[in-house]
Amino acid sequence: MNTRTKSVVVVGGGTAGWITAGRIAAHHQSNSETKIQIILVESPGIPPIGVGEGTWPTMRNTLRSLGIKETDFIRECHASFKQGAKFSRWVTGENDDFYYHPLVLPQGFPKCDLAPFWQNESNSKSFSEAVCFQEDICESGLAPKMITTPEYASVANYAYHLDSGKFSAFLQNHCVKKLGVRHILDDVVGINATADGDIGSVVTKQNGEVRGELFIDCTGFSSLLLGEYFEVPFVDCSDVLFIDTALATQVSYEGEDSPIVSHTVSTATEAGWIWDIGLSHRRGIGHVFSTKYTSEERAEQTLSDYIGPAYKNLNIRKIPIKSGHRKQFWKKNCVAVGLSAGFLEPLEASALVLVEMSASMIAEQLPLCREVMDITAKRFNETFLYRWGRIVDFLKLHYILSRRTDNQFWIDNRDPETIPESLQELMKLWKYRSPGDVDFASNYEVFPAASYQYVLYGMGFKTDREFLHHALSNKKLADEQFKINKHNIDKVTKMLPTNRELLSKIYQYGLQAI
Ligand SMILES: Cc1cc2nc3c(=O)[nH]c(=O)nc-3n(C[C@H](O)[C@H](O)[C@H](O)COP(=O)(O)OP(=O)(O)OC[C@H]3O[C@@H](n4cnc5c(N)ncnc54)[C@H](O)[C@@H]3O)c2cc1C
Repeated sequence: MNTRTKSVVVVGGGTAGWITAGRIAAHHQSNSETKIQIILVESPGIPPIGVGEGTWPTMRNTLRSLGIKETDFIRECHASFKQGAKFSRWVTGENDDFYYHPLVLPQGFPKCDLAPFWQNESNSKSFSEAVCFQEDICESGLAPKMITTPEYASVANYAYHLDSGKFSAFLQNHCVKKLGVRHILDDVVGINATADGDIGSVVTKQNGEVRGELFIDCTGFSSLLLGEYFEVPFVDCSDVLFIDTALATQVSYEGEDSPIVSHTVSTATEAGWIWDIGLSHRRGIGHVFSTKYTSEERAEQTLSDYIGPAYKNLNIRKIPIKSGHRKQFWKKNCVAVGLSAGFLEPLEASALVLVEMSASMIAEQLPLCREVMDITAKRFNETFLYRWGRIVDFLKLHYILSRRTDNQFWIDNRDPETIPESLQELMKLWKYRSPGDVDFASNYEVFPAASYQYVLYGMGFKTDREFLHHALSNKKLADEQFKINKHNIDKVTKMLPTNRELLSKIYQYGLQAI
């Protein structure tokens, strides 16, 4: 039957559920009675996962598209600015070993590729410092903008660190009050099928059946609709990405004036790594590791050593991680978004960006009747299988260039048997030239070629010298770009406030609305 889409039912009220419901509602103006109705069903007894504090710059656009004021978001979600990631101890494991993956593209990129020139001049500066002004901003603890910069605009590209629990609640309030999403607080306890095998309704404990034409599974790791009901298989990626456990906690700042770091700090440990995320009112810290290579006790000790004396009074949450994703994400009239679709370790904050991308594709290509749903589903599945594959490659890249030998974890990570063929091919190409947009011709990229450059050259990878001269033709243009970058470093580091100063001003005055 060619039924029209009148109601979209989102099951799950974590970040994935509310972002998806909000995106569809904003796009289809569901608060007008004639339009598509968006219903979100959320269990009162199963809380959202409550971790996931690092985002991508895409979040600015997502919030703006929902009609959210940046000042409200920053104040209510205790958000702060994130300007990329600093990877410590990933290459040699020594104290002075670090590199940056900033969010500003290399100067002149992609028109002018500075990587070969940087390598040729055997510059003493790190790659990211030589080609981008953001590393200096981060090292000086500065914000990516000023109080006079309008909301969502930037001096340096930025994302956010946010309080995940507050964020779901904030989105819920906005989606219900401003975007007309109907919120049902109830447990889904059953599923009714239509004659042709679609989901006709979900059965709730207190509110009976909730009918719809499209169902969005945002039920977190339980993957109630896509995984449990439709039995879509899980593609296990743990042979490539070994992390299987997280220990997460929250740490207070030492004082009211303690600096708020404006990038995620990822510190490699003997069998994993520690994230350290500065929010406006506290830090979120966690250790992810592989139990195949270390014991939980040692992992706890490593986290305790990192945090210091404050550790003994903290609540530590243990979260098992199963690296992988569903074989397909959209089956019949059900599509999974968020943890129900899959999860990979949070090394590059790729989960929420996939939620945003899924939500925007569903909103923009929402099948208005059943006849076209399978076509949209096919496109969605192709797009997201591609994206998950690229994310696996990009995360693995961080491990294969490490020279650490202190634990078999690092040695096994470099074993070609554990490296996807697609990544091995790229590494072979990049022996002879630097990564460029030509390597990622798809419209569906999550990480641009510049991100690969930052990680490769940050970790000491070198293009074969013999082949370097092919890429050194326009030296004049390259010299100009290096000069512009130096000039930008001088300019912005004099002009920008510290991250804490800016956040305090936002609490006091707010940002200019656009
Ligand atoms: C250790 C760790 C660190 C992470 N760090 C990052 C990061 O830095 N950046 C990033 O982008 N992502 C990160 N993530 C991922 C991020 O937390 C999630 O992608 C995000 O929170 C979305 O979760 P969700 O909404 O899919 O699931 P959840 O938050 O688990 O929400 C599930 C929802 O489903 C509902 N539900 C379940 N069963 C039923 C039922 N039977 N009936 C009705 N409702 C039901 C629950 O009530 C809940 O509302 C991290 C994840 C982990 C585990």
